[in-house]
Amino acid sequence: MAKILVINCGSSSLKYEVYEMPEKKSLGKGLVERIGDAMGKIAQESPKGEYTEETPIPDHRKAMELVRKALTDGKAGILGSMDEIAAAGHRVVHGGEYYAESVIIDEKVLETVDRVSELAPLHNPPNLTGIKETINLLGKKPQVAVFDTAFHQTLPPAAYLYGIPRELYEKYRIRRYGFHGTSHRYVASQALTMLKRSAENTSIISCHLGNGASITAVKNGKSVDTSMGFTPLEGLVMGTRSGDIDPAVLLFLLKRGYTEAGLDTLLNKKSGMLGLSGVSNDMRDIEKAAKEGDKNAQEALDVYACRIRKYIGAYAANLPKTDAIVFTGGIGQNSVSTRAQICGGLEGIGVFLDPKKNEEVGRKAGIISADYSPVTIAVIITNEELQIAIDTYDLAFGK
Ligand code: ADP
Repeated sequence: MAKILVINCGSSSLKYEVYEMPEKKSLGKGLVERIGDAMGKIAQESPKGEYTEETPIPDHRKAMELVRKALTDGKAGILGSMDEIAAAGHRVVHGGEYYAESVIIDEKVLETVDRVSELAPLHNPPNLTGIKETINLLGKKPQVAVFDTAFHQTLPPAAYLYGIPRELYEKYRIRRYGFHGTSHRYVASQALTMLKRSAENTSIISCHLGNGASITAVKNGKSVDTSMGFTPLEGLVMGTRSGDIDPAVLLFLLKRGYTEAGLDTLLNKKSGMLGLSGVSNDMRDIEKAAKEGDKNAQEALDVYACRIRKYIGAYAANLPKTDAIVFTGGIGQNSVSTRAQICGGLEGIGVFLDPKKNEEVGRKAGIISADYSPVTIAVIITNEELQIAIDTYDLAFGK
């Protein structure tokens, strides 16, 4: 039995969870928010109760200190002392072409994550800070890095090369990396259990539909194509990100006075479902507005589903045979109507949704395709934190 601390460190937030392994039991979790602002907050929940504190959190060191305080709190704490933690696992967004699997962190890993920061300037530096602060807290206990990109390192060149001069790949490593790998790997493996199949000879199209969204084609347990690319901006229409767009649009806007920073904000923060609907980036608000007759909201939903269908169709064409389509992420797990809209129209490629099962499964995990559907449709609840805990336990203490 070992307690594993899972850390997901962003630029202004830090999520954490403690798992008991190998039982895969969550003992509690917490969130530190607004690091660097005038006033920050930590909120933790566990069977022992809730713990919250509002206080200035100038940096990640202070955030980690608060995590330690919350974890070991006399009343609502999850641990008697930090000594109970056997190892820590960290989400790291970008592992470049260096890591196809999770790794035990040593000096070389720290250097490499730092070097790859060029490819993920908003994510890797805070990930690195989180690791360093956890080393301060836990000393020599094993720490593991779990990369969002690692699962997609099995993509063949046909899927990862862009149609631009090869020297740009050779010089700058411009290629498709793909993200959400930890989630796609987790749900694809859960789907195999649900379908009672082994990875061999099974092809799954995994749709992670959250605020960020991506689709991955998984063949024989390996990622063979994915919709996010050099950055998480490519692919599906997301909460605030545009997804695929003709790159000439950017040249057009540059000529009309848009700056690099302006384009960045436009495509990452003001586009997607927010930009299209003019209502919100939250699917619940858009669905409500569409129901009330808002035409732009309805059109946004139509664009959303159409883009997903296009990717599913494209991946089905490149897989030997699609055995299952999996829905996960906040929208995939919760929005019965979005699942219905996506699958309506895919009958031509053997995808038949059972509307009654879709309603019944609702927000749980389950199969929502008709019994006669050649392609099984499943809803799986993703759990990236658990996957990080599994990898950490396996690497630190052997399988
Ligand atoms: P993140 O990518 O930030 O982890 P999530 O996976 O939590 O995001 O997904 C957030 C999205 O899930 C939001 O767009 C939210 O509207 C949507 N969502 C959550 N619950 C529902 C629901 N009941 N119906 C429709 N959409 C939902």
